[in-house]
Amino acid sequence: MQLFEKLIDHPEAVSLVLENTPRLPVARVPLVEARGLALAEDVRAGFDSPPFDNSAVDGYALRSADAEVGQTFRVVDEAPAGHPAQKGVGEGEAIKIFTGGVVPRGADAVVMVEDTSGWGEAFELKKPAKAGQNLRAAGEDVRAGDVILRAGTEVGGAEIALAATQGYGKLPVYRKPQVVILSTGSELVEPGTRELSPGEIFDSNSFALLAQALEAGADARRTVAASDDADALRAAMGEALSSADVVVTSGGVSVGQRDLVKSTLLELGVEQVFWGVKLKPGKPVFFGTRGDTRFFGLPGNPVSAMVCFELFVRPALMKMMGREDKRRPRIEVYFDVGVENKFGRMHAMRVNLTSTEKGWRAESVGAQGSGLVSSLTKADALALIGPESEGARAGEPVEAIVLREEVVLAGPQRGEKAGDRR
Ligand code: AMP
Ligand code: MG
Repeated sequence: MQLFEKLIDHPEAVSLVLENTPRLPVARVPLVEARGLALAEDVRAGFDSPPFDNSAVDGYALRSADAEVGQTFRVVDEAPAGHPAQKGVGEGEAIKIFTGGVVPRGADAVVMVEDTSGWGEAFELKKPAKAGQNLRAAGEDVRAGDVILRAGTEVGGAEIALAATQGYGKLPVYRKPQVVILSTGSELVEPGTRELSPGEIFDSNSFALLAQALEAGADARRTVAASDDADALRAAMGEALSSADVVVTSGGVSVGQRDLVKSTLLELGVEQVFWGVKLKPGKPVFFGTRGDTRFFGLPGNPVSAMVCFELFVRPALMKMMGREDKRRPRIEVYFDVGVENKFGRMHAMRVNLTSTEKGWRAESVGAQGSGLVSSLTKADALALIGPESEGARAGEPVEAIVLREEVVLAGPQRGEKAGDRR
């Protein structure tokens, strides 16, 4: 057992995490696997797109110079999509063409079949035609050499479509971090397997943290909880460290005699970056590195574990994936009634948000105990109070990290409680 040497401030801890967490290497992944990831490089067009002049409608390609109403045309060939016509168009001639078909030599306009006497060997024109009508010009979408997608862009359906039009089968992205989640504690039982014996509780942290890691976009898995036993911890943590970019444990990281996570980590060669943050909940959080692997030892209390994931692990995962732009929104909130913070640590207070004339009003979700899992289900945001100040006065602006982004994305609707729209 060891006592905290020195607690650092929350912003310093976040900076240390980010400084010690590089982006992951670039990987070229099949188009659809890139969905939701950030492009690591600019993507350029290799050729003009569309690659050839083609028809926007079903009808006839002809010369606009011949296109007087009442004129009869002879149909000399056809040009369905994928099969260019053999012949060109001469005076008084036309070629049957379908959407996407290559505009034949000599033609400078396409008339819709609806504007003619109909399909046949010959037809009569019912409407005049202008040069260029119903044509899609080569290169009107993108030009050879253009940057069609910028590095940093999040890949979605539209980006995938554009890349595919240019023949790309893969896209360069920052690969997803492999995350392993491991709960520690001899009291923990796998939910759904058996009933609890006296003193036992179900492991909830590894499921919560796994959900958070997946929500952040990582490739994550959990393992069955390890008991507070040096050999069991060494085996479980050693396995996790050798198979992941990021290991997230919960529990066993404080100053109790059974808190063996930190000593085991150091034995396994993890270098400590920090241990202990002036934060409530989450004081005993540990962060370290071993080679390319990042290790987060989160406290066992369920609220502390989830809050520490939000504050430290999520930003690290986003950075690894080149998604620094995807940090949780930070907004200014105020309290109607002053709140105290006598802890000498920053209180990340679970609050509800209500939109009012004066801005976002925050209200504590109720008791703030770090074991109260139910309280998290009610929180829209974490209001950051202290550590310098001893609280926030009524009406004073306070920074808050928004957990339920839909709440602020929906925008302020006066007098409405954020939760009402959920
Ligand atoms: P620890 O940090 O290991 O001292 O744990 C602090 C508190 O969190 C204790 O009450 C533990 O029983 C509880 N706890 C630890 N790990 C978990 C977990 N995986 N799921 C639910 N509660 C946990
Ligand atoms: Mg424990």
